[in-house]
Amino acid sequence: MYADVVIIGGGLAGIITALQIDPHLKVVLLTKNKIKDSNSYLAQGGIAATLDDNYISHINDTMEIGHQLNNKEIVTFLVNESKKTINLLESLGVIFDQTEQGYRLTCEGGHQHQRILHIKDQTGKGILLALFDVLMNRHNIELMEDTACVDLLIHSTECHGVQIIKDNLLQPLYARHTVLATGGIGGIYVRSTNRSHLYGDGIAMAFRHQVQLCDMEFVQFHPTAFYDATGGKSFLISEAVRGEGAHLVHRDGERFMLRYHEKKELAGRDMVSQAIYKEMIACNQPCVYLDMRHLDTAYMTDRFPYIQSRCLEKGIDISKDLIPVSPVQHYVMGGVKTDLNGCTSILGLYACGECAHTGIHGANRLASNSLLECVVFGNQVASSINKSNHTRIIKIIGQNRQLKDTHDNSRYELLLDKVKAIISEYCWLSRNPCDLETAYSLLTTYYQEMLDSEDYSIAYYNCLNAISTGITICKASIHRKESIGSFIKEVY
Ligand SMILES: Cc1cc2nc3c(=O)[nH]c(=O)nc-3n(C[C@H](O)[C@H](O)[C@H](O)COP(=O)(O)OP(=O)(O)OC[C@H]3O[C@@H](n4cnc5c(N)ncnc54)[C@H](O)[C@@H]3O)c2cc1C
Repeated sequence: MYADVVIIGGGLAGIITALQIDPHLKVVLLTKNKIKDSNSYLAQGGIAATLDDNYISHINDTMEIGHQLNNKEIVTFLVNESKKTINLLESLGVIFDQTEQGYRLTCEGGHQHQRILHIKDQTGKGILLALFDVLMNRHNIELMEDTACVDLLIHSTECHGVQIIKDNLLQPLYARHTVLATGGIGGIYVRSTNRSHLYGDGIAMAFRHQVQLCDMEFVQFHPTAFYDATGGKSFLISEAVRGEGAHLVHRDGERFMLRYHEKKELAGRDMVSQAIYKEMIACNQPCVYLDMRHLDTAYMTDRFPYIQSRCLEKGIDISKDLIPVSPVQHYVMGGVKTDLNGCTSILGLYACGECAHTGIHGANRLASNSLLECVVFGNQVASSINKSNHTRIIKIIGQNRQLKDTHDNSRYELLLDKVKAIISEYCWLSRNPCDLETAYSLLTTYYQEMLDSEDYSIAYYNCLNAISTGITICKASIHRKESIGSFIKEVY
């Protein structure tokens, strides 16, 4: 199989890249599950954009929340492109919530102003449903669902495409341009807001080929995921709920964020998560609570219909009850290092979206900057590809292999559970140097055992990817000595 461009991932970053590629080029878009199974589809709060020319304030907020470890030049580019980004999405059929005065903007932690556009509390779904329609009518784009990319075809310093598994067949898909848009890493944690099939595959494959990565120690924990005491799956309670006035409290009503930060509930995510974590330990409680009871019920129900109905399913009435919440893994600031054009350290290999490290987020991501990044840098990758040389010689280095039909995956599923438990325990909000060494040593042992086996299957690669991503986090966490942003290192 051959395509001019292969894009791994059908979230917002992958789809925007595909739509912005010159229609004369043949594009194959791979998604591991169905196209709706992305984190982008789950995005609730919104997309940040500077529509009023107050660029400096958005740049400053991004830098402050990122603890100044961001790349200011790239942040400036992102913010300057934000108005165009909204125009682009609207030209593709996206409709953001409006009032009679214009966009209905909201605020989230770390933003000095209301600058977040949204579609109720399901912004990702609203954006993607519009984009799917456009995608299905682009004849140069072939969507391959239920197709896992399991390796990159890298020879020397050039990428020549990917290895995929489709219908139990391991096969090469050659391409002059390969784009990593595989999203987040939440599948390697026991508790995460992410889709559970996301193991940081793009980052893991890049790691195995020594493609440059950056800042993998910076993992963001969202302060307010629904806490289900019965062990049921948690779901996100958007930061926009606090943006609209909800308080964080203990069961007795104490508003503890007053003791932590002048911005109270709207401090950066790292600060709020760490404050909750400390309070949970101090009070020996598994959660704290979000309180919206003082807010206008009709307004909150209209503004957050999804959150309200998910809470009701769990027996919580947001107008009368406190909502139990606790921090869970949410986002990774690190990833495959790219330049302003989305190029990686390997020729013909690009990255965008959450799996990329553009330098925008520094040590902690500002809320609602991620969807913006997906569109701005998906667009950048597409324009780099459109301008580049499409005649590079492709090396035939892939392999074809029929995989066994009756594969016993239980061995890898068990190992994956063990790996998730290790990462969740040792690479959580606060990390201890001894624990990190233990985790690193265990994961590298498993990694070597996996490489020695040739028992290929999707379960094998999921496990290998989870281990690889875990290794990158441990290694970077061991390397960084000081606590900053989302990364807290305990002292011996
Ligand atoms: C619950 C939730 C709410 C959020 N709310 C917001 C918000 O309001 N605003 C905001 O800015 N950000 C938000 N975020 C973060 C934001 O949604 C994500 O960072 C962003 O959407 C990532 O987009 P992406 O295109 O990089 O990856 P994703 O949307 O995660 O897509 C990844 C794609 O890659 C595919 N894939 C992965 N591995 C492989 C493989 N090996 N082979 C083939 N395909 C593969 C997946 O199947 C999927 O199609 C939220 C995240 C979550 C989880």
